Amino acid sequence: MTLHLRSFLAALAAGGLGLTGCATLPQTETAALCRAEGVSLHADFPTAGQHRCLARSAETVIVRTDPEVAIAPRINPSPWFAFDIEREEAGPIEIVLDYGGYRHRYEPRIRRPGEDWQRVDPAHIEVLEEENRARLTLDLPAGRTRISAQPTYTPADVAGWSAAFADAHGFTAIEYGRSLEGRPLEALVAGPADAGRLLVALTRQHPPEYSGGRAFEAFATVIGEAHDGGALAGYRLVLVPLANPDGMANGHWRLNSGGMDLNRDWFEAEQPEIAALQALIRREAEGRDVEVFLDFHSTRRTLVYNPPAGIAARGDALMAEMAARFEAALDPQPEWIEGHNAEAGTSKAWALQTFGVAGLTVELADEASVEESHAVGRLAAEAVLAVAADH
Ligand SMILES: [Zn+2]
Repeated sequence: MTLHLRSFLAALAAGGLGLTGCATLPQTETAALCRAEGVSLHADFPTAGQHRCLARSAETVIVRTDPEVAIAPRINPSPWFAFDIEREEAGPIEIVLDYGGYRHRYEPRIRRPGEDWQRVDPAHIEVLEEENRARLTLDLPAGRTRISAQPTYTPADVAGWSAAFADAHGFTAIEYGRSLEGRPLEALVAGPADAGRLLVALTRQHPPEYSGGRAFEAFATVIGEAHDGGALAGYRLVLVPLANPDGMANGHWRLNSGGMDLNRDWFEAEQPEIAALQALIRREAEGRDVEVFLDFHSTRRTLVYNPPAGIAARGDALMAEMAARFEAALDPQPEWIEGHNAEAGTSKAWALQTFGVAGLTVELADEASVEESHAVGRLAAEAVLAVAADH
């Protein structure tokens, strides 16, 4: 340690520099994850992945994707990546994504400065070795280009969507709790206080599941329009657009910041995100029948996890209606998978056990386009409306 640094630290410890913490220390340029002549990599934005990297040159970088800290054994690994590459000059680059012990899952998206998201052309993606690494061969412009497993969608983006939705359809946004890191947990609520029926729809328990979140938005929009038109007068409506804000902000693969998969926590409700959400749903369910309970997710292909028909007090008609509408409009057909993880503390299992409703997990394909995701969400909502009209 140099004498200069020693005396600086001694002065700091004595309060002699008049500093009130690190915030006033001189800032150099934004910390890069790694850099080489003409290139730097950054993960300084919400949803950025947990990365380490090595820049060999402006033409070759290696980005390691690190999983979040987990308490329980890993389920369904989702090697998430989201980072910015800043180049001083335009030119070719080779980016190696190193997944460690995990396998390539997401087809990379790219957003060049001033442009919208695009898929990386599959001709420029090579999955290497035992699928533990992938090499992207790209031409990048000067400036910051974002590479991500899915289009990045932040808690602020969800809040913006929620505010616009609430405004357009006369829903009230309520804060039903706080996440472990103190982020607001928000629900959109509407419908008369004396309504006898309750609809609950939620999404984004799992941070990377972009297509499921977009399906939820289309579902909500159809429900919101029906509410405007008086078609759901007997219903109280509870929509939860972001169940796991910490996981989304921190670029997690699957978990909240308590190291838990929230969709395995519904029996224990150990995590504040689930405890608060359950308290909200129980409050809203008081004196009402829970008729609809939907949880939107994403996985490798579009499918529905459902309880077997005949075991729930309510929900069989909705399952039949939704299956018929999917069959008529979707190709390929979503599979319906009965009894999946029925004992595993999922939202749908809790809904069945607590309210006697056939909770459904609607899974969108990871690679579904926004249009495909919207179509599934709309069809699900139209099925709800058809069943509600039959009551
Ligand atoms: Zn999920």
